[in-house]
Amino acid sequence: MDCIFCKIVSGEIPAQKVYEDECCVAFADIHPQAPVHLLVIPRRHIASLAHMGNDSDEDKKLLGNLLWAANELARRQKLSKGYRVVMNTGPDGGQTVDHLHLHLLGGRAMHWPPG
Ligand code: 5GP
Ligand code: ZN
Repeated sequence: MDCIFCKIVSGEIPAQKVYEDECCVAFADIHPQAPVHLLVIPRRHIASLAHMGNDSDEDKKLLGNLLWAANELARRQKLSKGYRVVMNTGPDGGQTVDHLHLHLLGGRAMHWPPG
């Protein structure tokens, strides 16, 4: 499959990986939008949040694992003043890479509402 993030998981495309476990990999975003900007992705290819199995215990567990990893990374990055987790989903959500990923942004105050 021609997927940039699958290639990052396999090591075919280099990335600054900061975390790996049995289900997720996290790495620095190539175009950081904040002092800390990490992407947390599942090893398994899933196109987006809208492509999760709607009655899949495995997928429910996976989503929990991704969020758990985000908080663990925020702790390691010492984002004690807070952080933002974003999952752009589909064209209206601004998703540009069709492999499920969570953005962890921190190190500056975030604005609301997002654009
Ligand atoms: P999206 O717009 O789909 O929510 O987020 C995709 C993110 O992936 C963007 O923030 C973009 O900068 C990042 N990205 C795209 N290609 C690469 C890449 O090859 N390496 C890394 N590290 N990040 C990438
Ligand atoms: Zn993929």
